Amino acid sequence: MSSPSRPLPQNLPERIRHYIGGQFVDSLDGDTFDVIDPVSNRAYIQAASGKPADVDRAVQAAKKAFAEGPWPRMLPRERSRVLHAIADLVEARDQQLAEMESFDSGLPITQAKGQARRAAENFRFFADLIVAQADDTYKVPGRQINYVNRKPIGVAGLITPWNTPFMLESWKLAPAIATGNTVVLKPAEFTPLSAQLWADIFEEAGLPEGVFNLVNGFGEEGYAGDSLVKHPDVPLISFTGESKTGELIFANAAPYLKGLSMELGGKSPAIVFEDADLDAAIDACVFGVFSLNGERCTAGSRVLVQRSVYDEFVEKFVAQAKRVKVGYPDDPATEVGALVHPEHYEKVMSYVEIGKSEGRLLAGGGRPEGFDEGNFVEPTVFADVSPDARIFQEEIFGPVVAITPFDTLDDALELANNTRYGLAAYVWTNDLKRAHNFAQAVDAGMVWLNSNNVRDLRTPFGGVKASGLGHEGGYRSIDFYTDQQAVHINL
Ligand code: NAD
Repeated sequence: MSSPSRPLPQNLPERIRHYIGGQFVDSLDGDTFDVIDPVSNRAYIQAASGKPADVDRAVQAAKKAFAEGPWPRMLPRERSRVLHAIADLVEARDQQLAEMESFDSGLPITQAKGQARRAAENFRFFADLIVAQADDTYKVPGRQINYVNRKPIGVAGLITPWNTPFMLESWKLAPAIATGNTVVLKPAEFTPLSAQLWADIFEEAGLPEGVFNLVNGFGEEGYAGDSLVKHPDVPLISFTGESKTGELIFANAAPYLKGLSMELGGKSPAIVFEDADLDAAIDACVFGVFSLNGERCTAGSRVLVQRSVYDEFVEKFVAQAKRVKVGYPDDPATEVGALVHPEHYEKVMSYVEIGKSEGRLLAGGGRPEGFDEGNFVEPTVFADVSPDARIFQEEIFGPVVAITPFDTLDDALELANNTRYGLAAYVWTNDLKRAHNFAQAVDAGMVWLNSNNVRDLRTPFGGVKASGLGHEGGYRSIDFYTDQQAVHINL
């Protein structure tokens, strides 16, 4: 077990800077902010704080690369080669990437490594997809031929959150670039470190200058995120973050009629019927809410269990939750590390306190023993939580789960749909018909039947209700990042 005074990651830059038009640069006004290490909550590096003038500089570089550079005009096969080279480099650097990501975000090192591999896979996937891309052609015999011209749109603004930052950045960067756009990325202010690595990776892989630009800083008015959303030369915004931030961005982008893709918050249910394989369901539910520190948008944070197996489920779930190993993020045995930031820690802890009057506390409920500083929270289990409880309704985004019993399928459905969110749902039953019918009826963008949330990258990713707007994934990402122009010819 490593100590809190762990060494800084290797090859740490002197400070975190923007990357604009192929150069690392500071903010024009020289402003910086402190970046905190979640194990000690001490500042370990400074980052440039982007303002509207810095965003404008980045947008102009991206605009120039789009208008004059080779990238949008290259053949898909040529762009694909660069994307595969990016994937190779990410894979080759997965250890360094994971060390930086784990240090900056508090994610367990083994899980950070898995996320680095997923980032590489995102690039490989879109590299292949653009080469396989076929567009519609329609013929009216003797009268007309119609076909579709697919075109990159321009400068895409990409705004990302602090959970699994590098991987989530790749989920936007890969399709945006693959389709021939140029980009300005605004990573989350809590976790800006790993995004620095993109610059060298892209340069080494042969991505032309100005295609990728990075501006660090905060989201609110007067800072980087807000000014990217309001920049008139950025026709697309792909955003992942909280639902209330999404609402604000939606309003701010409206006067410019921007293309918007929104991946927002969640309070996803896992529904366990009495005929389910209970042990498999318990394993998956424990993993679903405690992996990635519970800081996972698709976390199964509400577990609904049929009353006939409720007591057995709760007893076994609690025993397993108590075995989840909290530890320092750099320890390979750690399963739950440190939450990203003291502000987020306070938020999660406030829900733990609220939960104590809303449910039966059966595991956790505070700071683990032996961790006097840093953002450590015990895996926490509340049972008998009623649907009007705040811990049932609100996204906590930490290692905290609410378990609620149900009697009939209709009760389960009503409970499952009884929040403003609709990102994911997990259904556990051995009745095939019930599984498929429940999937059809539940308000969720993604449903996993008797399985964990492993995804096929060709499928749509997105939520309904307050969990999002639009879908990315597979060809849907290509659709978002391109214009489809119809061309008609009379014969
Ligand atoms: P957040 O909304 O606070 O911030 C996300 C990003 O938006 C940050 O880069 C931030 O600086 C920026 N931002 C904030 N205000 C802005 C504004 N007014 N204009 C432009 N940019 C602004 O979210 P967070 O706390 O970083 O992330 C956690 C949230 O993200 C959770 O709700 C989680 O469920 C959600 N999330 C969703 C998905 C998904 O795919 N649906 C994936 C991961 C995380």
